[in-house]
Amino acid sequence: MGAPPAQERPGARAGDRWHVEVDRSLCIGSAQCVHHAPDGFRLDTARQSRPADPDPLANERVLAAAESCPVEAIMITLARNGEPVFPPEE
Ligand code: SF4
Repeated sequence: MGAPPAQERPGARAGDRWHVEVDRSLCIGSAQCVHHAPDGFRLDTARQSRPADPDPLANERVLAAAESCPVEAIMITLARNGEPVFPPEE
């Protein structure tokens, strides 16, 4: 079983925007994020990932990308209040 859909997470609202960051000190350029969310992430010339849009609408592809990152370099928060989406709060 995977994680619940983004819009069904506790506290989620339709039309939520997320804030997406990549910790470039961790990113190893594996491109898993680009594979899962080709419209959500880009690799730059140094093979470091960047969010294509740092404040996208909540969506499953970006969440799957964050979950797939082998070094947990992708952080997602709710844009409206900074609440963690991924990684989830313990
Ligand atoms: S999946 Fe993680 S390590 Fe791989 S390119 Fe994306 S952010 Fe970097």
